[in-house]
Amino acid sequence: MPIGPVVAPNRFYQVPHASGMTEANPRVRAAFRETKAEGGWGVVSTGAVSIHPSSDDSPLPFARLWNDADIASHAMTTEAIHRHGSLAAVELWHGGAVVMNRTSRLPPLSPSGIPWAATHIGFMGQQRPKIMQASDIDDVLRWQRLATRRALDAGFDILYVYAGMGYLGYEFLLPEYNQRNDGYGGSLENRTRFVREMLEVTRDEAGSRAAVALRISLEELRGKSSEHYPSEAHGVVSLLSDVPDLWDVKMDSSPTDCGASRFRPEGAHEPIIDFVKTVTTKPVVGVGRFTSPDTMVSQIRRGVLDLIGGARASIADPFLPNKIRTGRSDEIRECIGCNICIASWHDGVPVRCTQNATAGEEWRRGWHPERFAQTPSTRSLLVIGGGPAGLEVALVAARQGFDVTVAEQRDDWGGRVLLESALPGLATWRRVRDYRVWALSQMGNVAMFTNSQLDAEAALGFGANHIALATGARWTKRRYSPLEIPVESMDQPGVFTPDDVFANRVEGERLLVFDFDNYYLGGVIAEALSQQGKSVTYATPAGHASAWTFMTNELPYVYRALATADIAIHTSTYLTDFSGARAQLKNLFNQVPMEIEVDGIVIVGHREPNHLLYDTLNSARAGVDGPTVDLVGDALAPGAIVHAVHSGHSYARGLVEGDNGYLRDEAIVSSAPQPAFPVAHRVSLTD
Ligand code: ADP
Ligand code: SF4
Repeated sequence: MPIGPVVAPNRFYQVPHASGMTEANPRVRAAFRETKAEGGWGVVSTGAVSIHPSSDDSPLPFARLWNDADIASHAMTTEAIHRHGSLAAVELWHGGAVVMNRTSRLPPLSPSGIPWAATHIGFMGQQRPKIMQASDIDDVLRWQRLATRRALDAGFDILYVYAGMGYLGYEFLLPEYNQRNDGYGGSLENRTRFVREMLEVTRDEAGSRAAVALRISLEELRGKSSEHYPSEAHGVVSLLSDVPDLWDVKMDSSPTDCGASRFRPEGAHEPIIDFVKTVTTKPVVGVGRFTSPDTMVSQIRRGVLDLIGGARASIADPFLPNKIRTGRSDEIRECIGCNICIASWHDGVPVRCTQNATAGEEWRRGWHPERFAQTPSTRSLLVIGGGPAGLEVALVAARQGFDVTVAEQRDDWGGRVLLESALPGLATWRRVRDYRVWALSQMGNVAMFTNSQLDAEAALGFGANHIALATGARWTKRRYSPLEIPVESMDQPGVFTPDDVFANRVEGERLLVFDFDNYYLGGVIAEALSQQGKSVTYATPAGHASAWTFMTNELPYVYRALATADIAIHTSTYLTDFSGARAQLKNLFNQVPMEIEVDGIVIVGHREPNHLLYDTLNSARAGVDGPTVDLVGDALAPGAIVHAVHSGHSYARGLVEGDNGYLRDEAIVSSAPQPAFPVAHRVSLTD
């Protein structure tokens, strides 16, 4: 597929997405992107690459091409991508007023000095942007040219101009941010001028060496009426129609662009971007958390897109294109839309994925998503517990050649995923179970038993070389004091946990959900109880309902869902007592008491690992030669599903590879013979 002067080998396009990997860990980054090229993505892009210190997103882990010393680390990535015949794209980026320049301490730039997103101020810091003078515009164009030159030297084939997600180009397009009265403000044509000049300067520098792509957010523009076009989005695309070689079209904010499956279905972008191909002859790429080959083909056939964009799809399964090409669609490890990957960026660490434990570990631990070291001798493994951790242990061990038996006490597989995926919005999460159960069912060296609760005697009698205990964790009724000191468990009648919700044991019509787990489950359970016709109140000591969902882009939608269900929310509130008819609460800060009339309380708080079987097994086999016995997943340390899968994967790899490299980081390797790479260098603030 031609894109300007370059040709993509196929239509699978890994669009730019954050990896949390910076110049400080170039090998981690190169291996992460290389795996996708190997898996068949015809184009593999970087995440945002800052063109200048005035676009400094620290402490978030962004990449940069600020001076020539930054070229080498990117060259490592492009070489890795080219090894597999794919094209390498670089998302050159200026963050405008969105960035706070905490490290460079330069004033952020913006068309008219208007700060980005009032709700983000606490998160972003107190620095407000300056109004760009004409000379500032000239500077940014010059920085784009210099970054283009460096990107070409690094070997990139597609160079981006970014006009989306609140960043500088986007701010010029929107009249709310652009109130200039020079040639860059006012009419739609004037507002597109900056983006046009950025494209022209990139093209001028690149010549025929690379394609020029425009990444643009169209959600807000599509909602704006226009005198001459069906909307301002139509206007901007028409005015710039043939200027870029490729249109990469998207939504405007992280929660809408990278929406969680709990609230946004596959293909949710289409109503905004569906017109683009009607007003340009250039190829168009877009995303929509596509995981189904049918949806992908439909996007092309119906003329919505020319190239299938994937970010999360490519993280969950870097080999998705090759699996489709070779007729192995059943083997695709589909993204579940949980957005743990985006939370990694917000956490400032390399990408993590619930479905794909190898994401981000390709170099550090040498994990490949499709290749597994083989056990040198015949060995057997008994896995007790068929939740995410147990199923991952079983699958990885089976792929390593072990004889694997999995025993699950319930009548179906999936553990917590099976239970939670029945709750509102979480059906897609069942894929964690489905992918693994299907893959295991295809293997000749695996025996799987449900309705099989094992005790220590049965487990030892099995005679396996290794026993993995993936027995999960249980929710408790423990509370914490306002000083975060664990206090008593509320064991009186009428107090329940999520385990009671799953087992349909919750009684009463008026219920309080008291949540200090602070991730999704408290909010989801409140919704579920409300759907059952209960009158539900939600309280949490945190500052927001489901506070951690801020990290996964779900928070705005959580509030919408709770409001739609008419669920009252009390934040900064802790629970002190329950009489059976009244819950006593207090404000966390001023201790003002509050009383709510309820029949019952569901505490979504603390979890304890189920390690009784582990303890019994260890004492039963003391002093005798026997199997290795290990805890994995929630039974080892309760966490999110991503932690359980990673724990299971790590355990199984360790059976063959031993302790395979927690310490393999860039600093240690840089003292060994390696290609020259500048680990630290002086950064010029000018150019
Ligand atoms: P994780 O997230 O670590 O996989 P889960 O709670 O999702 O943990 O899964 C643990 C699974 O282990 C559950 O499906 C549970 O029914 C099962 N289990 C717990 N104890 C036993 C046991 N003694 N024998 C068989 N299965 C067990
Ligand atoms: Fe998909 Fe979740 Fe993996 Fe992100 S972390 S790619 S949303 S499965």
